[in-house]
Amino acid sequence: MAKLTLTPEMLETAYEYLRVSPPFCRWNLPHADQVMFRVMGTRDRFGHFRGRHRKATGDDGFSEIAISAGMVRSTDLLISTMAHEMIHLYQDENGTARGHHNKEFLRLAKRVCDLHGFDHESF
Ligand SMILES: [Zn+2]
Repeated sequence: MAKLTLTPEMLETAYEYLRVSPPFCRWNLPHADQVMFRVMGTRDRFGHFRGRHRKATGDDGFSEIAISAGMVRSTDLLISTMAHEMIHLYQDENGTARGHHNKEFLRLAKRVCDLHGFDHESF
């Protein structure tokens, strides 16, 4: 059983690794400096995404990606959870979904899993 203790720097670096790898490198995602990274304590989910576009008042905040320190205790799981939240970020940036798993999400998730070797079932 892995027992990694996450830090925001680890989240940020995981994000940047994925951002320069396919398919994310073609998605025009914001640089890590433009995203908030938070380690959260909750144990009811692996990760959480809050998009800047979800605010009714429009724009200009940063999107936030939070990862659960209690649930995510391995590098494998950190990278796959980050990849999942980055699909939400992509859809939020493009206005095609606001955090739910629609058809496009599932199609993108399949591509990400195929390329990176993540398990489809648990992704
Ligand atoms: Zn999700």
